[in-house]
Amino acid sequence: MNDVAATVFDLTRPTDDQLQQLAADLTDEERHVLLEHGTEAPFCGVFLHEKREGVYNCRLCGLPLFTAGDKFESGTGWPSFTTPFAEDHLTYIRDTSYGMIRTEIVCARCGAHQGHVFPDGPPPTGERYCINSVSLAFTANGDPLPDKLDRGAPEGEPLPG
Ligand SMILES: [Zn+2]
Repeated sequence: MNDVAATVFDLTRPTDDQLQQLAADLTDEERHVLLEHGTEAPFCGVFLHEKREGVYNCRLCGLPLFTAGDKFESGTGWPSFTTPFAEDHLTYIRDTSYGMIRTEIVCARCGAHQGHVFPDGPPPTGERYCINSVSLAFTANGDPLPDKLDRGAPEGEPLPG
């Protein structure tokens, strides 16, 4: 877990108007993944080799979802993390599509699809959060967090570190 506690972020769901405005800025691929629960092709995501310290935010609403320090090289071709930024920033949904039982992860604030979590990750959690690059935006330490919903600090403020 990150030093920035989950409770300081406003997790109130955006209004339908706000969601429509946010979705209007998406590319076709981003829309497919985030809103239609799609999956990007492996080994082509922009964050696969991102090594800087910082946080990964929901591409749609800007909520921090993962911390760079929890990213690991899974070899799967998708950005992978051992733990979320904060447990209550994600919603876990049982997904039985394609004849498999998986746990889908969506942003707890806006509901945008992120990926899946699997029980075969490395220590310390043993979990593998397998995420689509197009579902994420990156904020490096020292850069301001996005504040797409005008929620105010800590959103829109420089990320400590
Ligand atoms: Zn979101």
